Amino acid sequence: MFKKKKLLITTIITIITISSIIYKDTKRNTYNIETIIKTTPSYVQSITTVTTNNKQLNSIITTYIENQKKIFEKKTKNQNNNYLIGKDELNIDYQLNILDKQTWNISLITTMSGPSFPNPYNDIKCLTWNFQKKKELNIENIIQNSTALSLITKQVYEKIKTKCNTCITDKTFKQLFNKDFKNFQITENIITFYFYNQPVSLEIKDLSLIKQQKKKKPNIKKSNTLKTIDPNKPVVALTFDDGPSKYTEEIINILKYYDVNASFFILGNKVTSYQQVLKTSIENGNELGNHSYNHKWLSRLSVNELIEQIEKTQKIIQENFNYTPQYLRPTYGSITNQIRKNTDLKIVLWTVDTRDWKYHDVNQIIKRATENIKDGDIILMHDIFKRTKDSLIKIIPILKEQGFQFVTVSELEEVKKIRKLEKETPQ
Ligand code: ZN
Repeated sequence: MFKKKKLLITTIITIITISSIIYKDTKRNTYNIETIIKTTPSYVQSITTVTTNNKQLNSIITTYIENQKKIFEKKTKNQNNNYLIGKDELNIDYQLNILDKQTWNISLITTMSGPSFPNPYNDIKCLTWNFQKKKELNIENIIQNSTALSLITKQVYEKIKTKCNTCITDKTFKQLFNKDFKNFQITENIITFYFYNQPVSLEIKDLSLIKQQKKKKPNIKKSNTLKTIDPNKPVVALTFDDGPSKYTEEIINILKYYDVNASFFILGNKVTSYQQVLKTSIENGNELGNHSYNHKWLSRLSVNELIEQIEKTQKIIQENFNYTPQYLRPTYGSITNQIRKNTDLKIVLWTVDTRDWKYHDVNQIIKRATENIKDGDIILMHDIFKRTKDSLIKIIPILKEQGFQFVTVSELEEVKKIRKLEKETPQ
């Protein structure tokens, strides 16, 4: 009896696999990840969005984000005073798992915190999209074997009951968890179902329903051409936050064209999507720094959450490029003793803010990045805006004209060390 069932499952899986191989898709599905950061006197927002080549799917994602923004704006009260404790925070992050070429599982994770949220607000929306069928899949579409599905249903029920026996009645469970259930997240070999945002996770390795994605590690070929920086001549460090984005590639090309390097303080949640761009960036001699995983307000997190934000980012950069960032730039530019105490990374802010996040005018950005620049300045920009990319083409030659050499944050530190040594050594 048991053997028969196993055979049935295997057969069905084989059929699914074969049919998906036969149906070779000609069109590659694409996506783009962007982070939008907003700061107002009363709140901060960091929203990472997924935009795909399917309009319908994009609309589901946008509707969710817009709804969450509305909830946030309704609850957030006008605060003004203290920068750190006086503001509310909205953070929306994503998780994407490509199950096969046509089936993607996307999760949108929302948190709201701050003075207007005595109890932090958490929400998660998961969806599984099939590009071929142009529709959202439910649990029955994913686990097509009815025996396997009823087994899963039973396990989920038992897990919920163990967690909280009185939380849910049999009737409500049946209403919530049926064949049409869609709020599940699939990561590697774990499937997590969300009921009232309460996660119930099951291992699905043995069901081999999900094809494991093979992650390719790019081979980094760092250029051997050593830059010659004269420590006795003025230096300036260009730094870019919140990326990578669709503009990063061009920014890297501009830097290469002018034969200069910069430092990029990146978000861990975008590393996999921009793997190739980041690889080229490192190869060209640019520096990668840590700017948290998903732009949570680091100075307001618990120690555990803080360490997770930093370490998750270090790990993903290390795993993908065999590269270890040396610097942390805390989100929203705020440093606390808790951050200092809980990281070995060097913390760096900036001395010149181009305010490219505020000014939409390219000339305004150029002005701020080139007027009254001093030796050793660290210039803050964001590689998430077209205007920043456009202004960079002008900024570099103007600063070069003024006699500046371009250094990364690490190189700037080196230059400072050399200068100090030279000063201390008697001539
Ligand atoms: Zn930032």
